[in-house]
Amino acid sequence: MTETICAIASPPGQGGVGVVRISGTAIDDLSERLIGRLPQPRRASLVKVLDANGQPIDTGLALYFPAPYSFTGEHVLELQLHGSPVVLELVLRACVAAGARRAGPGEFSQRAYLNNKLDLAQAEAIADLIAASSEQAARAASRSLDGVFSKQVHALADRVIELRVYVEAALDFPDEEIDFLADGDVLGRVRVLIDDTEALLTQARAGRLLNDGLRIAIVGKPNAGKSSLFNALVKRDAAIVTEVPGTTRDVVRETIHLAGIPVTLADTAGLRDTEDVVEQEGVRRARAELAEADLVLWVVDINDSDPGPVPDTTVPVLRIENKIDLTDHHSRSEPKDVVMDEENRSMDAIALSALTGEGIERLDRAVADRFVVAESSLGEFTARVRHVEHIEVALLHLGDARDVLDLTASGELAAEELRRAAEALGEITGQVHSDELLGKIFSSFCIGK
Ligand code: GDP
Repeated sequence: MTETICAIASPPGQGGVGVVRISGTAIDDLSERLIGRLPQPRRASLVKVLDANGQPIDTGLALYFPAPYSFTGEHVLELQLHGSPVVLELVLRACVAAGARRAGPGEFSQRAYLNNKLDLAQAEAIADLIAASSEQAARAASRSLDGVFSKQVHALADRVIELRVYVEAALDFPDEEIDFLADGDVLGRVRVLIDDTEALLTQARAGRLLNDGLRIAIVGKPNAGKSSLFNALVKRDAAIVTEVPGTTRDVVRETIHLAGIPVTLADTAGLRDTEDVVEQEGVRRARAELAEADLVLWVVDINDSDPGPVPDTTVPVLRIENKIDLTDHHSRSEPKDVVMDEENRSMDAIALSALTGEGIERLDRAVADRFVVAESSLGEFTARVRHVEHIEVALLHLGDARDVLDLTASGELAAEELRRAAEALGEITGQVHSDELLGKIFSSFCIGK
């Protein structure tokens, strides 16, 4: 017997139609009190919704999905009413008076998961679909919801488990263990599993990018043209551009799309030593941004003979040679794609003018080259940081399994590593889960979902 929960499933505010969703075991009784009867299953019925005193609140459509053939796997009643926040709130109160309780965030999806209607990665895809900020992300989330990602994870986990079972069987015959492992080409099979897990990781990383987007930080010396580039990319004057160095004090952020990927672009304070305490804080925030970014655009004035050191970061840096409009057209060489830094390491570079826009489209291509792994893999499905991390853990254990087999031929140790690899994969779809993880995932959902 689960509690019956209710929520407004449509977005806040006024609209043509508003939806109230109710799920749980006590639907018969609740439906009787709320709309006078239990509607025919899976048919739209025109009903009058009554409050606790039997007074009508609104007229609308009721849809009844008996368990287990519903989103949550429980009895579900959906009411499509007039989209007035007041009406919907009154209906919700009537539901509560009739014995339901207001649902928490993601509670419907959590029940769907607990009733095996969806696995965890699919449930997460619902939230990702709702939050999708681009067509590509929406399509990819929809494929994740369909189970494209889950199927691949399951298939991989099944193969890991199958191999572990084989290795464990070898342990039952200690005298022949080594032959058993060699005959089954266990090491070769682990190597193939590693390759396939790496391929899945690449796809999951691309899926994570679609979901969360790419974080790009624009850094450089004061007056190099950071704010101008930022404005040119966001296509409006969002950041202040002046000839006065040190104008940008805080980090300014905007979301744009580059190469089809949602990008959070951050304009930062110019990196320089300064006495000004406000600017010092700006420089500190710029450095923090450097650490968090997926890509750094290092803007230098192409005419500046001392552009300063390469930004201190572990993420890829793209050097933007700005202000090409000020260089002499005749003496200007073709824009270079690669330049040398002061330590003679090659670095991707793009020459452009933030002022005239010349060359700016090359940035799109540079981002695509670097982050769109392969046409086909981006947009296959969406994934989350959590998924990427679990695949990385699985890969680590598979690597350890390979090493112990290679170096010690110990079936016991290999079996343990394979067990851990399968467990890490199982956490993605929720075959292995903790209540804490569930709480964390579903609490980030919207109410009514
Ligand atoms: P920031 O301090 O790095 O953010 O630099 P700003 O974007 O504020 O630009 C500093 C100055 O350089 C301003 O006067 C801009 O108009 C100028 N500037 C920026 N980009 C270009 C460019 O591509 N060409 C020219 N000619 N001037 C530019």
